[in-house]
Amino acid sequence: MTVTESTKHYGMFVGGQEVPDSGAERATVLNPATNEPLATTSLGGKEDARHAVEVALKAFQSSGWADADGAHRARVLFKLGQLLAERVDEFSRLETMNQGKPLRESKADVLFAARTLEYMAGLADKVQGDSIPVPGERLDFTVKEPIGVTVHISPWNYPLQLSVRSLAPALAAGNTAVLKPATLTPLTSLAFARLAKEAGLPDGVLNVVVGPGREVGETLVEDPRIASVSFTGSSDVGRRIMELASRHVVPVTLELGGKSPNIVFADADLDRAAKGVLYGIFLNAGQMCWAGSRLIVQRSVEETFLGKLVELARKLKLGPGYEPGVDMGPVVSKEQMDRVLGYVEKGKQEGAKLLTGGERSTADGLKKGNFVEPTIFAGADPEMTIAREEIFGPVLTTLAFDTFEEAIVLANATTYGLFSGVWTKDLTLAHRAARQIQAGMVSVNEYPITFPQTPFGGYKQSGIGWEQGIHALDFYTRTKNVNVFFGGSKKK
Ligand code: NAD
Repeated sequence: MTVTESTKHYGMFVGGQEVPDSGAERATVLNPATNEPLATTSLGGKEDARHAVEVALKAFQSSGWADADGAHRARVLFKLGQLLAERVDEFSRLETMNQGKPLRESKADVLFAARTLEYMAGLADKVQGDSIPVPGERLDFTVKEPIGVTVHISPWNYPLQLSVRSLAPALAAGNTAVLKPATLTPLTSLAFARLAKEAGLPDGVLNVVVGPGREVGETLVEDPRIASVSFTGSSDVGRRIMELASRHVVPVTLELGGKSPNIVFADADLDRAAKGVLYGIFLNAGQMCWAGSRLIVQRSVEETFLGKLVELARKLKLGPGYEPGVDMGPVVSKEQMDRVLGYVEKGKQEGAKLLTGGERSTADGLKKGNFVEPTIFAGADPEMTIAREEIFGPVLTTLAFDTFEEAIVLANATTYGLFSGVWTKDLTLAHRAARQIQAGMVSVNEYPITFPQTPFGGYKQSGIGWEQGIHALDFYTRTKNVNVFFGGSKKK
């Protein structure tokens, strides 16, 4: 296979242009299907992070973006969404080469990002305050102002989509931004910043710096000139971000990990449910915050259901995401593969029953890549590590229940609360479950599903705040109350 991107260097993009790195270092970005070099990127340091904030602040103060008519911002963001959709093949190929997922998944991600831009563009001229009745000859009203320099730190599992998810509302509201994508997968974010310039975004409004989280990420969060942090990533790093941001009282949204339950009741359409459960854990090789990583199945259908699921899992075709007919790509890095396989060992040691998978796949053509077989465990209990911790790989843990109440207790028995699935034909069961599950999102009879217009966020340690949806803009605006006394000298 010819990797046309292999010689390409992707520099950081600050102030509307590629900037030379302050240090001499460069990072080699690998293709996870082969572990061969794909491209190089700049590896920025603290100075690069500070410089990007400075540029973004200047753009906030003087580029005209913050003060522009909302309709103008809408047009630019809409155009950006259109350009992205037009270049879906180019962007999705780059995403797949870098991250590993099958091309059709990357395409869906790119189109989701394009649609997010379109949706947020539609809100850009609807950022408005209220007029509030107060006594006397006064007019009281609120204005919604952009907040300033917004920092965005994104992970490697949906590199472009999750960067755009928070950038779109921030830009729609008139802010400027510094994005730090994950070092493993920065290519589509860097390409996106160039596209934004083409769409007419003023220089300095969107800046992308690449580098280690501890250095570049922390420097951004610690910078007193920033106005907010939107972080998507692991719960451990989320805690650290919150701590750093609290030092100068900067608000954060945290979109963190999950251990989401997929509850299958005995009356469900088991064939449909099996496909949904399969999709919910093996899409993106299980590297999803919202992965349905815990199957909670009613004992009376457990054997039948698992039989269907194992059969489907064994048919999944593993391979490089850019090859036709591939159902599941590699995991993103060797380190991640070892981590996932470590969890599989732990599951076996703690007494769960391995039904299928559990190994690195070394089939023909896959030996050099980070391929993990689709893996299903049965007979788990909620205390086991594989039932509690986020594995972030293609590993499903099955727990069984007899009664509705048991199902809910199991579903809520983790520190996370991001997504959840319920499979039943009984509307009463579905609504009861939706009420009682402690998660930011509940989906009945399909998994996983979200739209740019529906809120995405977690309960418990899955995060703080909401991305997507109409209210996402609130985080990127602040409310100012204005009181005007117009009673002149007349005594009140
Ligand atoms: P990660 O937390 O290791 O890294 C995420 C980002 O934070 C990267 O850009 C990284 O460079 C940066 N970072 C790392 N340490 C940092 C620090 N000390 N200060 C500032 N930035 C730092 O996460 P990951 O491994 O890239 O992604 C996987 C995790 O992301 C999983 O836990 C997954 O559940 C979570 N995730 C959550 C959502 C959601 O919407 N809730 C979506 C996708 C992924």
